[in-house]
Amino acid sequence: MLKITKFGGSSVANATQFKKVKGIVESDPSRQYVVVSAPGKRTASDNKITDLLYLLDAHRQYHVDASNVTKIIRDRFLSIKNELGLKQNLEKDLDEFFANLAKMNQAEIVSRGEYFCAKLMAEYLGYAFVDAADVIRFRMDKTIDWDATTKKVQAKCAKYDHFVFPGFYGSNANGQIQTFPRGGGDISGAILARCINADIYENWTDVSGFLMADPRIVKNPEQITHITYSELRELSYMGASVLHEDAIFPAKEKNIPIHILNTNRPQDKGTIIQESIEGEQPYAITGIAGKRGFTSILVYKKHMSNEVGYIRKVLSIVEDYNVPIEHIPSSIDSFSIVVADSDVEDILYEMVARIKNEIKPDYVKTKSGLALISTVGRNMSAKPGTSGKLFGALGSNHINISMIAQGSDEMNITVGVKEEDFNKTVQVIYDTFVTKEKK
Ligand code: ASP
Repeated sequence: MLKITKFGGSSVANATQFKKVKGIVESDPSRQYVVVSAPGKRTASDNKITDLLYLLDAHRQYHVDASNVTKIIRDRFLSIKNELGLKQNLEKDLDEFFANLAKMNQAEIVSRGEYFCAKLMAEYLGYAFVDAADVIRFRMDKTIDWDATTKKVQAKCAKYDHFVFPGFYGSNANGQIQTFPRGGGDISGAILARCINADIYENWTDVSGFLMADPRIVKNPEQITHITYSELRELSYMGASVLHEDAIFPAKEKNIPIHILNTNRPQDKGTIIQESIEGEQPYAITGIAGKRGFTSILVYKKHMSNEVGYIRKVLSIVEDYNVPIEHIPSSIDSFSIVVADSDVEDILYEMVARIKNEIKPDYVKTKSGLALISTVGRNMSAKPGTSGKLFGALGSNHINISMIAQGSDEMNITVGVKEEDFNKTVQVIYDTFVTKEKK
């Protein structure tokens, strides 16, 4: 059994968490290859090491004295070292790092959180340390060079039976450090899993997997025990955040199940993410997720359906402004373009003016303050009446739906509602498909 075992920031936040990690790793001999994030928050008001490193970089850029920040970073790492009685000369490594800041770029600075954490973890577990800069290779266009990376990962696995690997970064062909987006330690783990064709990618965090809805909205939502990659992609994109959404692709390509587990409650079952799931699903839906902050731009023109290329012309104007489009619900004489508020903040009026001048619709109406809520379920397509049930429930709860989009694979129904109806909508959908269906 080949496993990649990845621990997130909260799982390595202090010496107590390191001890839990050791217990987990040692309880299963197949946990040979361990990936770590940088130490995260120990309490809600604490700082993540990576955030402090970004702050350190800002001090460097603006030539501000950074001794306060370096002291906090130093103390965090040294307290882990000292509490665990580790012997490596971390003091010297940290001194060298702080002395050389001027020569480093931002990526190198912020990657040191994972680097020092992995060095400590390697000594603590008695495993080798493998530097991600020697293994994960980025092309100059910032994409992964899969051939080079796969060869390097496999060579390290052939050399070492056990190692600890820092997440979040790699290097390019010039030897410069490059990082993944924030939270990207999950991507590093998925890359390693793909390169060795692992049987499973374990991702240890501080929650016992995915819940069917956001617990800040729905009280005690049910746990999702099994979910497909595609369902998870929809839910993550719409705001369910446990795993970085880009970590799904490398695992999916090789059909490697991802198991989300809780370092603080290792006995919990967690959530397994895989290509397909056999057997009955407990509910008609798998989960609900949503985001606030969208604007819809409605374009109306009589007999639009007879005019070839009309939608394309409007879209090409939107494209000129480099605005990503979320949805394009359409009817016979009109269609809407749904975009994130943050993408059109400064250009909405100019863009609408161009649509009016160049395309000459009868009218254009913009509406902001929209929330999008997706109800996701792999078995929805097989169950007639699911959408009717959803719309009916929202209607009888006086929630006005301003947009509906259903993916062609019928795995997802997205509704647009006013932002102030966001929580109520999630609750009503949950009650309709879960609370009322509970056996
Ligand atoms: N340490 C990085 C971050 O805070 C990456 C990670 O934790 O996965 O974004």
